[in-house]
Amino acid sequence: MSDETRLIHAGKSAGALAKTVGPPIQKGSTVLLPNAASLYDDDNYLTYGRAGLSAQACLQDALAVLEGAVGVSLYPSGIAAISGVLMALLKAGDEILVVDNVYKPVRRFCDHVLKRFGVTVTYYDPRVAPETLVDTASDAVRMILMETPGSLSFEMQDAPRIAELARARGILTAIDNTWGAGLLFKPLAHGIDISVQALTKYVGGHSDVFMGSAAARDPALVRKLADGINHMGWAVSGDEAYAMLRGLRTLPIRMARQGQSGLQVARWLTEQPEVAEVLHPALPGSPDHALWSRDFTGACGLFGFVLKPAPDAAVDAFLDALKLFGLGFSWGGFESLAISCDPQLKVRRFARTYGGPLMRLHVGLEDPADLIADLRNGLDAYARLKG
Ligand SMILES: *Cc1c(COP(=O)(O)O)cnc(C)c1O
Repeated sequence: MSDETRLIHAGKSAGALAKTVGPPIQKGSTVLLPNAASLYDDDNYLTYGRAGLSAQACLQDALAVLEGAVGVSLYPSGIAAISGVLMALLKAGDEILVVDNVYKPVRRFCDHVLKRFGVTVTYYDPRVAPETLVDTASDAVRMILMETPGSLSFEMQDAPRIAELARARGILTAIDNTWGAGLLFKPLAHGIDISVQALTKYVGGHSDVFMGSAAARDPALVRKLADGINHMGWAVSGDEAYAMLRGLRTLPIRMARQGQSGLQVARWLTEQPEVAEVLHPALPGSPDHALWSRDFTGACGLFGFVLKPAPDAAVDAFLDALKLFGLGFSWGGFESLAISCDPQLKVRRFARTYGGPLMRLHVGLEDPADLIADLRNGLDAYARLKG
């Protein structure tokens, strides 16, 4: 045979692979099938690489254990997970109730895409009583989308009660559980139909990979979510699934540490004269503390606080003085981050007024004493310009 032919057929993947601790990362669009009968036997053979190969399957298995799920779908980002769930389960004429403190890009998807496809989107107050929410829902409501605590303003909802009431009316419930990361809160065990998370945050844990997941227990729902991904043509790579699986191994340890450090920083902030309020459901004084204690087994490192009123320049001076906290919009990684939040609150239907500018911190794996010193520096810069 000529070199052209030999180079196509030489060096192919062998049969059995050496067993390593992590799964092999298979690269493949084409999957070679053993015989003609298997070509159209999708029930028994993986016939195309887009469905995900070894690393993706291992990640799905591990996430199913974490979430207590029958099946888990993977999406190229957290937003894709939420849009994928909504596209798979809603149709024109349906209505969805979306909590008003939802992650802002989710709202963008609802307002710009769902509405265009004939789905009515109604935002509800995160503080509404579950009974009122479900009793006043129209017959067109097909789903309730929750996020608890909200990732900017940290209100909690009674998600188990909402799920129980919704189920009695045949309404599906889904939750963005990125704060709980499948670890601190178990949505499926609490009766919620679909648990979504941005794996980009705590599961990845290193601020370098995008991915989202949706987990469910009902096999029919699991199937619909998987079909939805197939219809949309989405896929995640083996390299990225591998990175997520690596993050997952240390998730409980990182979260425990970041949760503790976060609380230490939050408690310290409550004592600073420049701070009007700290928004953290795990703080005993929080209006959300009872729900958090009942449903969650811990806290992550993300929380908010309100500065006393001051000109914008003082808020900027606070942020610009920080050396250990990076200024950036994500969270869940090993590093500490800070942002101001007010511009993001403008889109809300049920606007709350805070006693001053709302800030958000993500506490990473640094020593909390160093983080506190950094924040003190920032507050000093703020105090100089507060007037
Ligand atoms: C970041 C985030 C998402 C979206 O995740 P991406 O992977 O960035 O698309 C969804 N929900 C919440 C609460 C988030 O913080």
